[in-house]
Amino acid sequence: MYRDEYERCPRDGTELTDAGAVRACTQCRGQWASFATLMEMARVMTQPNEPALQFERDPRTPLSCPTCANAMETWKYHHIELDRCQRHGIWFDRDELEAVLRAVFEDDQRPPEL
Ligand SMILES: [Zn+2]
Ligand SMILES: [Zn+2]
Repeated sequence: MYRDEYERCPRDGTELTDAGAVRACTQCRGQWASFATLMEMARVMTQPNEPALQFERDPRTPLSCPTCANAMETWKYHHIELDRCQRHGIWFDRDELEAVLRAVFEDDQRPPEL
């Protein structure tokens, strides 16, 4: 399988750099996180509850995965558009990761629907 030596931003091709738990684009401020990393961050927001991330399919043109360059799946969560490669991770445009975590927190605070 073809694999680029470097992971590149799907928006502008900039090489991604380590930024803590995620990798980030210094150009557009997009962030690339594994699904496990996202779940870990979400758990911090909802503990002691398990976060319930309900993604919806979002038909639009997909970005290519920074790792394998395959077209990613397009999802949305509270109107936040996300691109996910089942094998490698989730792409967040600038400020979207924070927006997702805020929405996860707000969902957790909301009383359950009767
Ligand atoms: Zn970028
Ligand atoms: Zn991939």
